[in-house]
Amino acid sequence: MNQSKVVLITGGSSGIGLAIAQRFSHEGYTTIITGRNLDKLNDAAAVIAGKVVIKQFDMDWIDQIPEFVQSIYQEYGSIDVLINNAGINQKKPFVEVTNEDFESIIKTNTTAIFALSREVVKVMLQQESRGNIVHISSMAAKYGIPKVISYSAAKTALEGMTRAMAVELSPMGIRVNAVAPGFIRTPMSAKALDSDPERKNKALSRTPMEKLGETIDVANAVYFLASDQASYITGVSLRVDGGNAIGF
Ligand code: NAD
Repeated sequence: MNQSKVVLITGGSSGIGLAIAQRFSHEGYTTIITGRNLDKLNDAAAVIAGKVVIKQFDMDWIDQIPEFVQSIYQEYGSIDVLINNAGINQKKPFVEVTNEDFESIIKTNTTAIFALSREVVKVMLQQESRGNIVHISSMAAKYGIPKVISYSAAKTALEGMTRAMAVELSPMGIRVNAVAPGFIRTPMSAKALDSDPERKNKALSRTPMEKLGETIDVANAVYFLASDQASYITGVSLRVDGGNAIGF
């Protein structure tokens, strides 16, 4: 059990983030989840066993991130693991995407993650045990998916950030990795797939395991990368996709 360890999970009140929170909490971590909606955060806290802390914080409040991270550090004494899970998707034909649409997706899925990671790394560098970071990427960073231009740009940037952060921070004792989920059953994917049966069939037909993944499948991979079991792993993007990326 890691009674004293602290994990910070963004967007932890639903879908993949909630499953990650349950996984870490089960292992004895003090599990801090962020989200925008207080009711959803309270509902999540009610289904996560163990020591869970909710923080209402919108990742788009980028200027407030340093203060937010410091307040967590003051209150809990360390941040051992950061999971950059919060993300938004937008499905729109390429020519209809406005500059505002594009910037908004990049802001939440890339800029906020950069700013939060930077502030958390400052904290980790003050800790003797350092820490590690896992970003949640996507198949959209692996190959071309139509009608998700902003999301694809953001997730591809995140994979570049994973590599750049890993090479710079690993010598200082901070590992940085990513998990790239395939098609996982969550509210986000339901929105994208249930309204588009053709896309859903296509996703499933090229997934050798012939089913959508479950949130726990992603949570297990994230926990593995954050744990000492992965102590010599840094800079990877681990696909959790039922073989989707190599499917024919
Ligand atoms: P979800 O919509 O259930 O969860 C996303 C979470 O992020 C929500 O709790 C949401 O409130 C939060 N969030 C969004 N914007 C935020 C903001 N500005 N501030 C704070 N919180 C914010 O979706 P999910 O499927 O669980 O997605 C989780 C992550 O997994 C995302 O990064 C997503 O891109 C990625 N992903 C999901 C799939 C899939 O098939 N579901 C596939 C690949 C990648």
